[in-house]
Amino acid sequence: MNNKPRKGNFDVIVVGLGAVGSATVNHLAELGVETLGIDQFTPPHNKGSSHGETRITRQASGEGSHLTSLALRSIAIWQELEERFSMSGLFTRTGLLAISSPLSKARVHVDKFFDSTVAAARENGIEHEVLDGSLLRDRFKQLKTTTDEVGYYEPGAGFLRPESCIEANLKAAASNGAQLNFDERVQSIKYGRIIEVQTDRDLYKTEKLIVSGGAWVNELVPQLSKHFKIYRQVLYWFDIQKHYDRFKPDCFPVFIWEPTGVPWGIYGFPAIDGAGGGIKIAAEYLDNTIDSPEQLVREVQAEEETHMYENYVAPFFDGVGRKCLKSSVCMYTVSPDSGFVVDRLPGEDNIWIASACSGHGFKHSAALGEALADVVLSGRSAISLEHFMLSRFNLK
Ligand SMILES: Cc1cc2nc3c(=O)[nH]c(=O)nc-3n(C[C@H](O)[C@H](O)[C@H](O)COP(=O)(O)OP(=O)(O)OC[C@H]3O[C@@H](n4cnc5c(N)ncnc54)[C@H](O)[C@@H]3O)c2cc1C
Repeated sequence: MNNKPRKGNFDVIVVGLGAVGSATVNHLAELGVETLGIDQFTPPHNKGSSHGETRITRQASGEGSHLTSLALRSIAIWQELEERFSMSGLFTRTGLLAISSPLSKARVHVDKFFDSTVAAARENGIEHEVLDGSLLRDRFKQLKTTTDEVGYYEPGAGFLRPESCIEANLKAAASNGAQLNFDERVQSIKYGRIIEVQTDRDLYKTEKLIVSGGAWVNELVPQLSKHFKIYRQVLYWFDIQKHYDRFKPDCFPVFIWEPTGVPWGIYGFPAIDGAGGGIKIAAEYLDNTIDSPEQLVREVQAEEETHMYENYVAPFFDGVGRKCLKSSVCMYTVSPDSGFVVDRLPGEDNIWIASACSGHGFKHSAALGEALADVVLSGRSAISLEHFMLSRFNLK
């Protein structure tokens, strides 16, 4: 996509073209702004936080009732992109099943995730059912639920194809004239009325800068590093040994489970690649931070697969086998309250930071990019970004 003659001055520069950055350049370019997007790799890529074939999207968020408008607007944007580029399957509706129990100590992103999800659904008028233990067992025989567990079923939820969503954003941005520079690493940023962005290839100048560097946030904006922890996460695809029909997307929804007796929550997806493709399951281990993405161990050891199978797969799924078909390593960038940061950099009028991960940001990224582009250009947006301000952390 580096198809335009390069030049040095832009209205807005966006550093990082993953989920949030690619959505932001799309909307900036749509608004006719001279935009430069820079990424150190060629997005979509498998080195940050936006790979692994699927991401859950749900309309009611246990992480905050205010997120519903972003989730809904994001789906609408992806459906517009599907139509515009004749792409199918950016979003696939499968429904979502969340499971929890009063006995569970596993925590998904926030305290009382299950109860807050139900409350957010009620508050926002999102269609859903609450299933008691016996209904849960009758409807989902492929899951080994216990009598104390309850379910939340949201029919409008499903999964996104993250790599295709990013590709669509960048295609739209390029078609509206954005300059997209790939395989170019930003090395330093000099603040001022005119900001200077030095890369390993060139120097660029701009009046407005957006930093959406994902897990590299602490390198790009070191003054904020005390707010973000980076965690290694592993995704696994386990073989379906029996009852393949029970794991097909038409009867098996995406799921988030706070199981009893283990420390971490699990989530996963139906068998979207046929009987041989297995199902993707992950446990949200949040016990080991890394100082920087360069330290990330990208290989998955056999012992990790065994631990995952014995503790998080075999006890909970009927029909999923021990064989791990493949795995992938990804990074979470987690803020102190598991919320997002989309705000001006303290002390700088013309630099914005967009960190929307904490393990649940993809589903909101299209609308966040749109709102951020509006705020940067006009100071306001249809969906408010007030929940994502840095001041909530009492920055000193
Ligand atoms: C395993 C896993 C599972 C998840 N599951 C879900 C889910 O089911 N549902 C959901 O909604 N969310 C989920 N999330 C969260 C979601 O994927 C993230 O919120 C989202 O991908 C974050 O996007 P981002 O734009 O912040 O980061 P990224 O997409 O990683 O983008 C950051 C970009 O910045 C670039 N960059 C960094 N430094 C530089 C530099 N110096 N110069 C140039 N470029 C640079 C990087 O190369 C990268 O492309 C999950 C995340 C992970 C890791």
